[in-house]
Amino acid sequence: MVNKINIGVIGIQGAISEHISSMQKALNDAETPGNVFIIKHTQDLNNADALILPGGESTTISKVLNKSGLYDEIIKRVEQNDLSIMGTCAGCVLLAKELSEKTEDVKLLKVMNIKVKRNAFGRQKESFENEIIINGFEKPYTAVFIRGPIIEKVWGNCKPLAKVDNKIVMARQERFLALSFHPELTEDLRIHKYFLNMII
Ligand code: GLN
Repeated sequence: MVNKINIGVIGIQGAISEHISSMQKALNDAETPGNVFIIKHTQDLNNADALILPGGESTTISKVLNKSGLYDEIIKRVEQNDLSIMGTCAGCVLLAKELSEKTEDVKLLKVMNIKVKRNAFGRQKESFENEIIINGFEKPYTAVFIRGPIIEKVWGNCKPLAKVDNKIVMARQERFLALSFHPELTEDLRIHKYFLNMII
């Protein structure tokens, strides 16, 4: 029997309630007791074992993370090595150690050994669905991309898990998971279940 798992979703922007409901369903299906809740203040992070960083605009999310003190608190927990994190889309950008563009507008969390290019699929392809093959998944997965980033490079203990047109769109580094797409916008719960397995 596993202990109760507490998963917080950063409540700044993006499909917050969709992430909460997907994660709750993943917990129910796994018959794993747990709470999924929204994180707005530093104290909300105290009892979280895991964190979801939703999409949105990385510049805005970054600003609010900083102002609220959540940026420092997340870094502290990562350094203590007791927080799992899944970042989707803008969340993937924030997890990166490097950005391909030079900008002062995004303060990266620098958690994962990835280099990320924002809005990387070009104008005509700003929003699309694509069937992707994910390492370790039995069947293809339909991924929803909305002005998504690509992961240009991974290194060290970070491993690519999926690609589109030979560009990395999903990568894992131990307890951290970065996705260019939006798993919360589909009924397919396999990504949330995969993340859950990384926590328990
Ligand atoms: N283009 C956004 C960014 O870089 C990400 C878009 C999204 O999260 N859907 O911040």
